[in-house]
Amino acid sequence: MKSFLAFVFSIICLGVANAQVKAPTEPVMDRFLRYVKIDTQSQEDQTTVPSTRKQLNLANLLAKELIALGAQNVRVSEFGIVYATVPGNLADNSKVPVVGFIAHMDTSPAVSGENVNAIIHKNYQGGDIVLPKDTSQVISVAKNPVLKELIGDDIITADGTTLLGSDDKSGIAEIMTMIDILRQNPQIKHGTLAIAFTPDEEVGGGIEKFDIKGFGAKVAYTVDGEELGEISDETWSARTATVTFQGKSTHPGSAKGIMVNAMYAIGDYLGRFPKDMLPETTEGRVGFVHPYAGVIDVETSSVKVLLRDFDVSGLDAKEKMQRDMVAETAKKFPEVKIAINVEENYKNMKEVLKEFPELTNNAMEAARRAGLKPYMKPIRGGTDGARLTLQGLPTPNLFTGGSNFHGKLEFNSRRGLDKSTETLVHLVQIFAEKS
Ligand SMILES: [Zn+2]
Repeated sequence: MKSFLAFVFSIICLGVANAQVKAPTEPVMDRFLRYVKIDTQSQEDQTTVPSTRKQLNLANLLAKELIALGAQNVRVSEFGIVYATVPGNLADNSKVPVVGFIAHMDTSPAVSGENVNAIIHKNYQGGDIVLPKDTSQVISVAKNPVLKELIGDDIITADGTTLLGSDDKSGIAEIMTMIDILRQNPQIKHGTLAIAFTPDEEVGGGIEKFDIKGFGAKVAYTVDGEELGEISDETWSARTATVTFQGKSTHPGSAKGIMVNAMYAIGDYLGRFPKDMLPETTEGRVGFVHPYAGVIDVETSSVKVLLRDFDVSGLDAKEKMQRDMVAETAKKFPEVKIAINVEENYKNMKEVLKEFPELTNNAMEAARRAGLKPYMKPIRGGTDGARLTLQGLPTPNLFTGGSNFHGKLEFNSRRGLDKSTETLVHLVQIFAEKS
């Protein structure tokens, strides 16, 4: 029902009066299904970018396809970042800001992305979706209320043994299909576009190598969000605390009066975390503290704690709370040396984006023209766009239609891919209209 025909129809509604609008040379879903077969899993704690060489397989393919789609200045940087320019088709392109579109090529290190076997659940009629190769993997309506909006749609999942890679190959497929549609339809007017596909978003290394100046965009969007209509111009302000507990180890047979076991101190400290301020007990705009990795040992125990809040004042309060907790534990365990070190990770991009309201306004308008009901959603995380924004390239985040990122229950749908692509095509037109 929500088929390729529906997509062609919606493209016809793209505000291009009396024009025959041609479909892309390859439907976005076919393109997506090709990309998810390429394993691009990134890896934590590597010293090189990209963290895994296999990401270059997709980078090189995308570069080739961009050239075939008429993009210019196509290049893959030494860090595996794909850059390209799509020339504008206006009488004077200099009047329209160069708009950037960015998606990431890697998939999460959390779950394998090897041999992804995408399954299309055609004409979904409601109910839980059991993944065939591991029937303990169930996409339930209870946990995924968005499924109720996907009746009649074709839902795309993995088979239960891998992630799907919708994050962020949906974004890549949608941007590529937008370029394809623009090439097929020169009557759709737009300014110059800058395109980039980045490695290592999931491990946080790729964007550090991003060449903002060479990219050439004045403003940009990451296409890396979730449900249809969801637009984000807010991320966490983020810090990480590392708390170290120094005890004294000795042979337990002759330890009396000598051994100082740091494990009891770290246990006491962890016991002080407020239950209502954790990732598992908060949502929406409420921040959290999250001990997520550590070592326990008699001599030295340590734990890393994420501190997250949308407001700097809230973040300051969370940091103070950690320092107070450390002080309390130190009082109880005077022989254990306790140190807390807090690092700044990133800031809420809203601090900058509030100066550029047209970015989210144009995106909202584009989504409405695609027949969606757009809404703003703060991201309980960071994005590559947050870092770019704070470095001078304002970059909010747009939806891709996908859900359940980083896990085996990840999914997207035909309509999700179609409508996200359609939104991008509207968006470039809106920038041209408004300039
Ligand atoms: Zn992503």
